Parts: sequence; structure tokens; C-alpha cells
Amino acid sequence: MRGILIVVSGFAGAGKGTIMNKLIEEYPGYALSVSATSRAPREGEKEGVNYFYKTREEFEEMIKNDELLEHAEYVGNYYGTPRAFVEKKLDEGMNVLLEIEIQGAMQIKKAFPDALLVFIMPPSAKILKERLTNRGTETPEVIDKRMKRAREESEGIESYDFIVINDEVDKCTALLHNIILSASYQPSRRREFIEQVRAELRNI
Ligand code: 5GP
Repeated sequence: MRGILIVVSGFAGAGKGTIMNKLIEEYPGYALSVSATSRAPREGEKEGVNYFYKTREEFEEMIKNDELLEHAEYVGNYYGTPRAFVEKKLDEGMNVLLEIEIQGAMQIKKAFPDALLVFIMPPSAKILKERLTNRGTETPEVIDKRMKRAREESEGIESYDFIVINDEVDKCTALLHNIILSASYQPSRRREFIEQVRAELRNI
């Protein structure tokens, strides 16, 4: 069975990264796509682990060569999903996670109608701002930009298949896994099995 392409979006500071890492650690069958970006690495981030860091020119070259499944500009920087890794892992039957923002998510939905789109929400706007501030990696100006962006992004949540509220990481991770597991039993994702049983029924 081909893997499920899963888009996970959420406001900056909603805790997506933590949940993705926990999901991969605790459950088998998931691969996390590493994006390309033109933004500078934050302290502690590693090339090839958090992102592939590119200049704007290098990024534009990747777009031109059709190396990206989707790409978008977010708060002044390019972000995009390298195509080859995703296709390979899906073919291997892995569920592939894309942690991307909403413009990219809409491109994926269009190009891959059976992708599963999940939006991770904080319990409240106040908690979101606290999490962004406590992270300590962003200037107040960037935090303000990201809160404004969150307001804009909140308008698009209904385009997603599910929301997950991140009040507690373990609970949220288990819920996300269960959503994906449930999706894997949709008849459209089990065509081969259904056909096989139909054939058996004809021959029994
Ligand atoms: P950050 O700079 O905080 O790492 O990421 C900023 C935003 O870009 C987040 O919402 C993140 O999900 C999104 N993002 C990361 N990688 C990609 C990507 O490959 N494509 C798109 N469209 N968005 C991405």
C-alpha cells in the first residue's frame, strides 16, 4: 500500500515540531520531509536535519528545475518541499509528514487530492503568544509579525480535514496518529484489499 501524504500546519509556536518528532519516535511507518529554506539557521539548527539552507538564488534554481513539490514565501523567506524524498518514501509505503504553512498546504491539496491535511491549534491565542515569547529565538518584531500571520492563517483552517488542539503533547501526538490510522482505513486507500476480497467472494 502506498503511504499517506500528511500535511501538518499550525501557527508558529503551536508546537508542531515537538509533535512531529514525538510521532516519529513513538510510532513506526512515518518519514518526515526536510524542507529547503532561504531563511538563516536558528541557533542549534542543523543543515539536513531542520532544513536544507539555501540562498534565494539557489532556491529559485530549485523552483526552476521543478525539484519542489510546493513552495511558498513566509515572512520574507522561501520555504519548499523537495520532491524526490517524498515520492520515494510514499512508494516504500511510508506515511510522509510535511510540516508546512497554509499556502503550501493548498498547493499540495490541489496536486494530491488524497493528501490528509491536519491543522494544529493552540488552546488559545494567549498561550500561543507565550510559547512564541518563551522560545527566546525571535525578536519582538518577528513575534508580532508571526502573531499577525497567525490571524491571517486562522481564516484558512476550514480547508483542512482535521484540527488537533495542542494542550498536552503526548495526548496530541496520540490523537494525530489515530487520525492518520483512521484515514488509512478509508475505502479509497484500500482498493487493492477490497478488490482482493471481491475476487475471493466470486470464487468461493
Ligand atoms: P520556521 O521559520 O519557523 O521554521 O517556519 C516558518 C513556517 O514555514 C512554518 O509555518 C513552517 O511550517 C513553514 N514551512 C516549513 N517548511 C516548509 C515548506 O517546505 N513549505 C512550506 N510551504 N512551508 C514550510
